Amino acid sequence: MTSLAALRPDLPSPVQHIDDERFGRRGVRLVVKRDDLIHPELVGNKWRKLAPNLRAAAGRPVVTFGGAYSNHLRATAAAGRLLGVPAVGVVRGEELADRPLNPSLARCAADGMRLHFVARSTYRRKSDPATLAEILRTVGAEDAYVVPEGGSNSLAVRGCQELGEELRGRADVVALACGTGGTLAGLAAGLTSGQRALGVPVLRGGFLEAEIGTLQQRAFGGPRGDWSLDDRFHFGGYARTTPELDAFAEAFEQHHGLPVERLYVAKMLYGLVALAEEGAFLRGTTVAAVITGAPFAT
Ligand SMILES: *Cc1c(COP(=O)(O)O)cnc(C)c1O
Repeated sequence: MTSLAALRPDLPSPVQHIDDERFGRRGVRLVVKRDDLIHPELVGNKWRKLAPNLRAAAGRPVVTFGGAYSNHLRATAAAGRLLGVPAVGVVRGEELADRPLNPSLARCAADGMRLHFVARSTYRRKSDPATLAEILRTVGAEDAYVVPEGGSNSLAVRGCQELGEELRGRADVVALACGTGGTLAGLAAGLTSGQRALGVPVLRGGFLEAEIGTLQQRAFGGPRGDWSLDDRFHFGGYARTTPELDAFAEAFEQHHGLPVERLYVAKMLYGLVALAEEGAFLRGTTVAAVITGAPFAT
């Protein structure tokens, strides 16, 4: 098995200033934390969350879960190939087994991930021990190391604490997009007093606050750091978009030469611009936008 260090991650990831008049004219300094540059294939927060789990797996096969367009599944598949670790992806939706693979799943398969499609009803019960044991038996990986959907177990959350630590002294407000909230749970714990984290959920539902509380409880034994969520920028839910959001992301890429991942990063940047325009940041504030991933190139 290849070691993670041999993959030469770019850590700590770079912090870059972005000259954008929507912030500048309000006396707000915008910087980006380029976690998208950590590794070309094991990108962004997926590196931070998977690395400690891959160490814990110690070469055992890794089994994880995701939907048909999951960034987490793709990252796990890439990790499997790069490190020589067998990877199994349990995919939500039995019906997908009979169709040509979409580009995201095709990439997983090309990286050597074994895909196992399960009915939505089974997928929903995947944390139930009997259901999980049955799935592992079916894929012939009873000795596997299991990473939960989205990858946010305690090791992952503690891995993201380093992201916060790397930003100490670099920003007053740190913004990032949230799926499971695992990255925010860890990041907030790594910041120092006077800094706060601002999460932009990309899923609809308003359940995330409690989830992040639970993740911090499990990883650290209690609440950590100063964090909050702004639930206004999900654009209808996961993978949903609007022409306005697409235009915003494209213009941002062109102006700043920064690749904007669409499922998460675009919504966070849009939210930050909206907040700046509402006057949510005092003059003199430095806002760090965490670039948690890169666009998926098909
Ligand atoms: C997976 C992902 C997230 C969400 O991370 P969570 O820890 O689940 O909140 C954010 N941004 C990008 C680019 C991702 O791929």
